[in-house]
Amino acid sequence: MRITKLANTCPRAQLNISFVKTQSMTTFLPLATPQNALSAREYLDCQAQTESNARSYPRKLPLAIRRAEGLYISDVDGRVFMDCLCGAGTLALGHNHPATVAAIRKHIDEGYPLHSLDLTTPVKHRFVEEIFSTLPAKFASKARIQFCSPSGADAVEAAIKLVKTATSRSGMIAFHGGYHGQTHGALALMGNLGPKVPGLMPDVQFHRYPYAYRCPMSNQACTHCTCSKFLRITLSDPEAGTMLPAGMILEVVQGEGGVIPAPTEWLQGIRCICDEKRVPLIIDEVQTGWGRTGTMYAFEESGILPDVIVLSKAIGGGLPLAVIVYREELDVWKPGAHAGTFRGNQLAMATGLATLQHIREYNILDNVQSMSARFMDHLLTLQKRHAFIGDVRGKGLMLGMEITDPAHTDEIGRPKGDGALARQLQAACFSEGLIVELGGRHGAVMRLLPPLNVTATEVDAICGAIARACRIVEDQEECDGSKRTTDNVEKGLVHLRALGDACAGFMESSDVGPAAD
Ligand code: PMP
Repeated sequence: MRITKLANTCPRAQLNISFVKTQSMTTFLPLATPQNALSAREYLDCQAQTESNARSYPRKLPLAIRRAEGLYISDVDGRVFMDCLCGAGTLALGHNHPATVAAIRKHIDEGYPLHSLDLTTPVKHRFVEEIFSTLPAKFASKARIQFCSPSGADAVEAAIKLVKTATSRSGMIAFHGGYHGQTHGALALMGNLGPKVPGLMPDVQFHRYPYAYRCPMSNQACTHCTCSKFLRITLSDPEAGTMLPAGMILEVVQGEGGVIPAPTEWLQGIRCICDEKRVPLIIDEVQTGWGRTGTMYAFEESGILPDVIVLSKAIGGGLPLAVIVYREELDVWKPGAHAGTFRGNQLAMATGLATLQHIREYNILDNVQSMSARFMDHLLTLQKRHAFIGDVRGKGLMLGMEITDPAHTDEIGRPKGDGALARQLQAACFSEGLIVELGGRHGAVMRLLPPLNVTATEVDAICGAIARACRIVEDQEECDGSKRTTDNVEKGLVHLRALGDACAGFMESSDVGPAAD
């Protein structure tokens, strides 16, 4: 509640959001009160009183959303924001894309069922055909698909069960910084300790994930990745104390872990190890699948193939849907060995199909690559201006800026991540009409997940808001540095810092950074 009050009284928020409206929006009109019974503040207060203490985003982004279209959302008070969170990367084409809205209407008008368990329908039949057509032919020609309960974590659970059944082994290998969801099994595979509870799925080994900016093998930025070599040595060492696992799971670009793309040589090394040790390789493409990184799947660039691929988010076109697709040799489980009532979400298959068709028809992958380059140009320019931007990185439209404290290093001389400053930057972006997420160690990485069809004008507007937000936090740092009194500090900055601090209360309750979706 404290946060809500602060955000709504922030003078900058009111001021700059109108800038966004006039500069970059032509058609999107917010619907504000009086149509809404309550103000944003009142909705948020009610939410705080009724919803679980585990709620997260409303604490960082105090919003009651009324309308959404493309990149834009407006809240019940009529404030407009550019949304670079997009349902944690779920909305590949942004909010309420006409193609997905039309698909929903058509599905209903034609009298298709909403749910069908795992019974088939013409919509499901087409969805299966199309999803196989997106995958490399060598993999797809000998693959099976399992529809899971609708979240990414549900599909990760299915993948764990599948490889355990197929190998009769019990353990799993996961990687530092990995994120695979928050159910009991998936959570056990997570790097971030924050959301973990005692008694999770046992027998998970964690190994080092390559992180060029903070090489886990040395105190220098990585130039030649040796992480997979060390993993091979460990798994081959008769004294290493580790048994071969049922499966190995990884993200090609870690998202929640701080937007960390794995190098091709590491992925190829991991593929070789899995082949050599006969360990099924599960590639979690929940966040990267269907174009987010500029190719249909993030693994494509490395030339490797998974044994199991986990998909959710974009494949449902904004509605809940999750599947695993895997090599048919692994399909040894018995009829009914895996089920879930909501594995037959027909509407999500229809919107997923519409999304895929649009991605193909409008060459959205090309757009992802060119807009990615445009973002990188802007963000690298900002990095030159602001010493606290330690690293700018990403793949496609999965971009991140690691915020560091230039005055301090960690024990081995690497730049110290600055989660507190990142939170202030997130709050400053919010005040500038831009929604961004944080991730990575201590929440020090500012993450961007814009719609895949974002335009050049929108990229410029987003980066303009980030540039203004960077100036705000830099001014604030200077104010702090010169020990100016609160009276002398511009009012908006006081609110901003308080908002950052209030968010910190939530994020640091775990002491290890934010627990995102
Ligand atoms: N895997 C990855 C790579 C993810 O990014 C996420 C969600 N951010 C999940 C799994 C879990 O998905 P869900 O939140 O739908 O359970």
